[in-house]
Parts: sequence; structure tokens; C-alpha cells
Amino acid sequence: QPIFSAHDVSKVYRSGEVEVWALRGVDLDLFEGEMAVLLGPSGSGKSTLLNIMGGLDRASAGTVRFADQELTDYPDSRLTRFRRDHVGFVFQFYNLIPSLTAWENVALVTEISRDPMPPEEALSLVGLDKRMDHFPSQLSGGEQQRVAIARAIAKRPQVLLCDEPTGALDSKTGILVLEALDRINREFGTTTAVITHNAGIREIAHRVFTFQDGGITQMHVNERRIRPQ
Ligand code: ADP
Ligand code: ADP
Repeated sequence: QPIFSAHDVSKVYRSGEVEVWALRGVDLDLFEGEMAVLLGPSGSGKSTLLNIMGGLDRASAGTVRFADQELTDYPDSRLTRFRRDHVGFVFQFYNLIPSLTAWENVALVTEISRDPMPPEEALSLVGLDKRMDHFPSQLSGGEQQRVAIARAIAKRPQVLLCDEPTGALDSKTGILVLEALDRINREFGTTTAVITHNAGIREIAHRVFTFQDGGITQMHVNERRIRPQ
């Protein structure tokens, strides 16, 4: 059962006379509980699709559905509410508040969520139970990214969208971050889509989608992981 369906989605950016087609009629279904990976060269449209799915941006054409909600025509206020209630985002840069501890950074989000997990539970899921009182400057890049993941999952989102979460990390540290995402996906069945170049992702993904010039040109199923239906 797909929880997310992007159908025939196009995105064109215009500035003056110049048009950039970031997406050209893309179809992508995500099954509930699956770990999907988006691969492809820089500029091929991965971030644009992730942002449209998460309600950060709008398609120029096509439709996007989440469960029984048709997001395409939502007014901004409703799209914002959808995003806040259902979607967790992780980006390349962690955007932690430097003057707050790891615990406090996560608590900022849980205080305004409907059914959050305690910050210490989210931090312990990403292996940071011993670092809760540390400030971002006292943590390594990989640890800061895991705080950002804890912050994203603490509101128990139905879907987790990660745009190059390993992009600023060396490959070994990146694997620790991917392992944290894998654990969350297995433990909570959180539907997850990840843009990453880290080769370790091939082990944990259910499906890998390859982008090229604003389209999906290849889909690979990982036979070693049973995909949720
Ligand atoms: P990535 O390759 O990691 O997706 P980019 O550097 O392409 O990152 O994009 C970073 C941000 O800048 C994104 O939010 C994207 O929407 C925006 N962006 C990318 N290209 C352009 C552009 N030509 N003009 C304006 N904004 C852009
Ligand atoms: P990827 O994530 O695969 O690196 P993006 O989705 O960031 O690719 O970008 C796809 C294309 O759209 C690129 O040509 C990029 O420069 C362009 N683009 C992305 N965001 C913007 C923006 N805000 N304004 C103008 N062009 C953009």
C-alpha cells in the first residue's frame, strides 16, 4: 500500500527568460514502512522531488498524495500543518541551536508536537544517551547529525525525508548515521526516503531510485531486504 504517491510531477523554475526543468513528469510511490534511496548526479532533481513530497515546495504540474490526503491543492496553511504533523526532515547541515544542549534541541520540537516521544528516548535511539547534556560544539559532526535525526523523529512522523544527511561526513561516520536511520525504520516502520552517495546505503535500502535530468531512469530492488507491501 503506497503511503506516498507522486504522479507525473514536473517542476519548472523560471527567472526572467530562463527556464530550468528540475523534474519532468516523475512517478514515485513509497510503500508504508519502506526505506527508499534516491541516487543520481547533482542537479538531477532529487532534492526538488523530496521537497515537493514533504510539502516544502510545490509541483508545477502533477499530483502528490499522502495516505488519503491530496496535497496538490492544499493552501499554504494546510500544507504547513501537514508538514508539521507528519513529516520529519533531515538535511546535510544540522541546524542545531549552538546555545542549547542536545536534549534541549530535541525538546524544542517535542514541546510543540501532539504525541512526541521524550527527548531522551529519541536521543537514545540514535545512540546518544550519554551525550544528552553536550552542546553542539562538544559533539562530532556525526553526533550532531544524529541529534538532528533525533529531533526529526521525536514527533513520531509517519515519513522521514533525508536530503544528503551524510554529505558533510566522512564515509565511516556516514555509516553510523545511516545505521541510525535503519534502526528507526526497522523499529518504528517509519517510511523513509534518503538522498545519499554513501555506498553503505545499498545494504539497508529496500529500493534504490536513480535520477537523471529530472526523471527516474532506474529502480533497483534490494533482494536481501523484504519490502513492506
Ligand atoms: P543539492 O545538490 O545538495 O541538492 P543544491 O546546491 O543544488 O543542493 O541546492 C541547495 C538549495 O539551493 C536548494 O534548496 C535548492 O532548491 C536551491 N537551488 C539550487 N539551485 C538553484 C538555483 N539555480 N537557483 C536558486 N536556488 C537554487
Ligand atoms: P539534486 O538534488 O539532484 O542535486 P535539485 O533538485 O537540487 O537536484 O536541482 C534540480 C535542478 O533544478 C538543478 O538544475 C537546479 O539548479 C535547479 N533548481 C533547484 N532549485 C532551484 C531554485 N530554487 N531555483 C532555480 N533552480 C533551481
